[in-house]
Amino acid sequence: MKQKINLLIAFATMALVVLCAIQVYLVKTTYDYKVEQFRTEVKEKIGAITNNYTELDSSLFFRKEIIYKNLAQKFINDKSYREQIKSELTGNEYRNVLTKHLRQKLRKEFKDNEIEFAFVVNKFIVFENTAKSDTIFSEKPSIKNLVYGDLASLDDAFIVRNYVGTTGGFKNPGYRLLTEDCFYVSVKNWEQIILGRMAALLVLSIISILVLVTLFVIAIKALIKQKKVSDVKTDFINNITHELKTPLTTLSVSTKMLAREDIQQNQETFRKVIDTVERQNVRLQHIIDQVMSNSLGFENIELQKEKVRITDLLQTIIKDFKLAFPNVIIFEEFNFSDTVITLDKFHLTTAINNVLENAVKYGCQNITLVTSNNDGMFSISIKDDGIGIPKAKQHLLFEKFYRVEQGNVHNTKGLGLGLYYVDQIIKAHKGSIKVASDLGKGASFTLSIPTV
Ligand code: ADP
Repeated sequence: MKQKINLLIAFATMALVVLCAIQVYLVKTTYDYKVEQFRTEVKEKIGAITNNYTELDSSLFFRKEIIYKNLAQKFINDKSYREQIKSELTGNEYRNVLTKHLRQKLRKEFKDNEIEFAFVVNKFIVFENTAKSDTIFSEKPSIKNLVYGDLASLDDAFIVRNYVGTTGGFKNPGYRLLTEDCFYVSVKNWEQIILGRMAALLVLSIISILVLVTLFVIAIKALIKQKKVSDVKTDFINNITHELKTPLTTLSVSTKMLAREDIQQNQETFRKVIDTVERQNVRLQHIIDQVMSNSLGFENIELQKEKVRITDLLQTIIKDFKLAFPNVIIFEEFNFSDTVITLDKFHLTTAINNVLENAVKYGCQNITLVTSNNDGMFSISIKDDGIGIPKAKQHLLFEKFYRVEQGNVHNTKGLGLGLYYVDQIIKAHKGSIKVASDLGKGASFTLSIPTV
């Protein structure tokens, strides 16, 4: 069953992860699509600008051609000029004027967005009689090769146009120049613009994933809880069957014995069997009482409160306890011995007895009782040197029917109701209970109740 639940959780988790991954993929695809759509819009708008301002477009082209041609001519005349070509390109005489001019036009057309641009050259090759070529440079587009523009980096920019052109007509016939340049633009805050366009989709996606994860967690929690409840019930049935079996078997044997004539004639044996029947009867009654007394939660327990000198009560409990368990040594460290508390004597006595009996049941030789009084709370710590309780199980101790030794029910008898009862009684007194323990290191239960 446990394996089945684990398998179910594993599959459901995997399905959820796949579903989340698909959702993320879909959002990412939409984002990429929106980026492309946005760039196309910008490209189309820039295309329209160059159509509207043909004189600007042609002057950009025309000037660029002049710059390229002049530089190529100088190179043809003197090959050592090669080193200066790049710096002459980027520091060309038209750069400031044309940048300013184009910026103004772009601002006028893109009223809602701040736009920056760059013309960069990435190829500059001089051909001699088409057979022999001299590559001045041929590289990836870089902002270092800026001809016009105000962009500081190409990182967030995208290509709007790409121009490849050849120029002839040099003083030296047979020479031609091949250039490639790109027009880059970048829209400020373009990511916010796209995220803004995707806001509804993003919000809906996040909400649906959150709802899905929450539903998943609730379902798994409910499943685990149900499994726990069913385990606890099975344990309880096993335990109570075991608890009832012994007195019932003894009663059945005793009844058979009482029916025998030889037993009836022997007064002493007859009395002994009757005593056994009585003892088993009391035991059965005790088991039924234990189950019945735990049917109420602490909210419904009616306390019969009276003023009690707490140390006197503890001493009476210890006296009776020593009679029942003469082999266990009890140490008392009673402070604030004259404290008087209003409490239900019967219920609190039963609760303390439950803790003391547990200490014996779970292997102790010595018990130490320590009392303290802090901030209006009177505390009774009951420390034992028994088998102890693993840390991981401690938060379950006060649950109804819970037993640490599940599956090992025959070692120590019990119904898993003792500590539940203690917790309910202490809560009914508006107090609290704490446990400190570790496996093999004994256990310490501290019951605290308000002094007023
Ligand atoms: P039970 O009838 O099993 O004793 P309780 O509610 O009294 O039920 O205790 C719950 C479980 O807590 C027990 O099954 C036992 O494993 C563990 N426990 C309680 N008291 C002690 C103790 N003093 N030392 C070790 N284990 C304890």
